[in-house]
Amino acid sequence: MLSRFFTTTVDFAVDLGTANTLIGSPGQGVLLNEPSVVAVETESRRALSGRCAVGHLARQMQGRTPDNITVVQPLRQGVVADFEACEAMLRYFLFKLRPRRFAARPRLLVGAPASLTPVEKRALFNSALRAGAGQVLLVPAAKAAAIGAGLPVAEPVANLICNIGGGTTEVAVITLGDVAACQSIRVGGEAMDQGIVDYLRRHYSLNVGPAAAEQLKIEIGSAWPLDEELTAVVRGLDTVAGLPRKATVTSEEIREALQEPLDQIVEAVRRTVDACTAELAADLVDHGLVLAGGGALLRGLDRYLTERTGIPARVTPDPAEAVIAGAIRCLQNLPRWRSNLESSDDET
Ligand code: ADP
Ligand code: MG
Repeated sequence: MLSRFFTTTVDFAVDLGTANTLIGSPGQGVLLNEPSVVAVETESRRALSGRCAVGHLARQMQGRTPDNITVVQPLRQGVVADFEACEAMLRYFLFKLRPRRFAARPRLLVGAPASLTPVEKRALFNSALRAGAGQVLLVPAAKAAAIGAGLPVAEPVANLICNIGGGTTEVAVITLGDVAACQSIRVGGEAMDQGIVDYLRRHYSLNVGPAAAEQLKIEIGSAWPLDEELTAVVRGLDTVAGLPRKATVTSEEIREALQEPLDQIVEAVRRTVDACTAELAADLVDHGLVLAGGGALLRGLDRYLTERTGIPARVTPDPAEAVIAGAIRCLQNLPRWRSNLESSDDET
C-alpha cells in the first residue's frame, strides 16, 4: 500500500533543561517530564544498556552508584556538556514516545538559552539529529516561557520574563515577537542548593549532598521572611567526627544560605532593564516581571524581586511548565513563528 510510505511528520516540542526534560505535542500537551540525567559506565562513558538508565530511574541512582557506574547530567548551564549522554537521553525519550521504528523522524522544536554560541547550537542540533530527529528548530527558552506564561509577546510592549532553571537564569525583554534584551547567568536552583551545602558545612560542620540540600530548599526555603518561619531536620556527615548526624535548621538560616544566588538574580534583572530603551523600561513598571522555571517556586521570590528591583513581580501559574507550554504553542502556530526560528537545516 503506497499510502503507508507517506507517513505524516510528527512534531514534538522539547524543553531540554539542565535539570528536567519535558516533551509535548500540540494535540496532546505534555507527554513526558523526566530528570535530565543518564547513568553511564564510568570507564567507557557509555550509557548503560539493557535496563533503562535514563531519567527517573537514573535519578534514583544518583549518589548511590558503585564505582563502575556514574550518573551524569548531559547538560550543564543550559549547554550540551556531554554529547553522547545527551544523544542517548534524547533517543530514549523519543523512543518512549514513538516506539514504531519505521515512522518518519520527528521534527523537534527545542527551547534553548538565547545565549548559546554557534558552536553550542551546532552541538545541540547534532545531538538531537543523531538521537533520531529529522529536523530541529530552536526557540529562545525565555521567549517560549513568555509565550507559555500568556504574555502578549507579539505586541509593541515590553514583556519582562525571568526563567530560573537548575543551572541557569535567563532574564529577557520580549517585544514584537523578539528578544530585545537578554541576560543569562550561570546561577539557578543548583547554585541555591550549593549555597545550602556550604552553609551547613560552615555553620554546622555537616556534610550534606546536593539532593538533601535541594529537599531543604523545597521544604523550608524562602527568599522573603515567612509569616510563620519553618524548621526541618537534615541528615549528613559530621565533618569532624566523620559520623552521620542530624541537625535542625530554620527557614531564616536557609534564606541566609540562599542570599548570594538571589543577589545575582536581582543583578541580572537590573542589567537587563538597564539595557532597554527608556520606552521599554517605562512599560515594565506597569507590566511587571513574570517569573518562570522550577526555581520560581521558591517561596516569596516574587515579593523579594519586587522589593529589590522596584518592578512588580509575579509567578506564572505552573512555572516549571512555562517553557514547554510556550514551545507547544509555537508548534501550533508554526507558520507565524517559523521565520524567527533557527533550524538545523540552515547554513551556519
Ligand atoms: P531546567 O529548565 O534547568 O531543567 P527547571 O525549570 O526544571 O530547570 O527547574 C529545576 C529547578 O527548580 C531545580 O533546581 C529545583 O531544585 C528547583 N525547584 C523545583 N521545585 C522547587 C521549589 N518548590 N522551590 C524552590 N526550587 C524548586
Ligand atoms: Mg527550564
